[in-house]
Amino acid sequence: MNSEMTDMTQNPAPLIGFIGLGHMGGHMSANLIAAGHRLLVHDLNAVAEQRLVDLGAERADSIAALAAACDVVITMLPGPPQVEAVIREMAPLLRPDAVWVDMSTSTPAAARVVDELLAERGVSRLDAPVSGMAKGAASGMLQIFVGGEATVLARVRPLFDVMGDPERVLHVGGLGAGYTVKLMINQLWFSHLVATAEVLTVGVKAGVDLGVLHTSLLASPAASSFLANDLPSVFGGDYDESFAMKLACKDLGLSIDLGRDVGVPTPLSAHVEQIYRTALAKFGPDAGEMIPVRLAEEYAALELRQAKAAEVAA
Ligand code: NAD
Repeated sequence: MNSEMTDMTQNPAPLIGFIGLGHMGGHMSANLIAAGHRLLVHDLNAVAEQRLVDLGAERADSIAALAAACDVVITMLPGPPQVEAVIREMAPLLRPDAVWVDMSTSTPAAARVVDELLAERGVSRLDAPVSGMAKGAASGMLQIFVGGEATVLARVRPLFDVMGDPERVLHVGGLGAGYTVKLMINQLWFSHLVATAEVLTVGVKAGVDLGVLHTSLLASPAASSFLANDLPSVFGGDYDESFAMKLACKDLGLSIDLGRDVGVPTPLSAHVEQIYRTALAKFGPDAGEMIPVRLAEEYAALELRQAKAAEVAA
């Protein structure tokens, strides 16, 4: 085994394969190219591929060709069905010293289907899903939650430090732990959104100015990163189309499945999922992940709009 081929700290020019060049993967792969890495890319969408070719990547003729050529393969795909299909195709072809890093929001089960084959062939893998939205992907400041062996993480760490905030590349446990942590983060974030939308629409309907209410919540024990950093785009009418409702509902479904698998009741999560699915049915699969706020706005017959949160008068 030639482990130097995939030791990013030893060899400055291994070939990186990147599959899934959408809202997230497009930026992540562009940042790797900008940092001087050699990339072979593949996506079902030729336009997405061409954007990366224009930045200096090579286009792979097929998943098989990419798998056979690369030292490290990164996947950033919609969810478990796509991850499973792609890795089943790649597994028999990956180089014996290669590392497969799945950064999709997926489940341990989808990756586990190839574990035996990868082990036989001397291929390592990590799950490394991310948080930080498309803007974090664009700025190279994602949070990355890594499951797998520390020695494998050390080999590809320089790639994570390009795509993410080096301070927030967290090794969260063995294989599968990254997927689990990411699903729990999203479940809590979506729950924050639904709860916050209710509170704001009731408060504004009861006569409090939106900016005053927002500033008051931020100054209170109920403050959150969601209130401070993510919600304000809604005040300008932006429900974040860079993360589609079809993916948000996929994540909520996976989170609830996980609760079922481990035998823990999740009545609140199930209710949040139903609210999200109602919003998806009403506004469509490509609507932004914050569109459930719009449901609360419709119930209250108002819009949460304001250019900038107002200051509370002293
Ligand atoms: P996206 O739909 O924009 O991109 C997915 C890409 O994968 C598309 O370009 C699609 O053509 C490609 N693809 C699908 N199946 C394929 C296949 N079989 N072979 C090759 N290419 C294929 O999705 P995204 O928003 O970039 O999200 C990607 C992953 O990251 C998802 O798991 C999502 O849950 C997660 N995520 C997204 C965000 C966000 O804000 N968008 C944030 C954190 C995590």
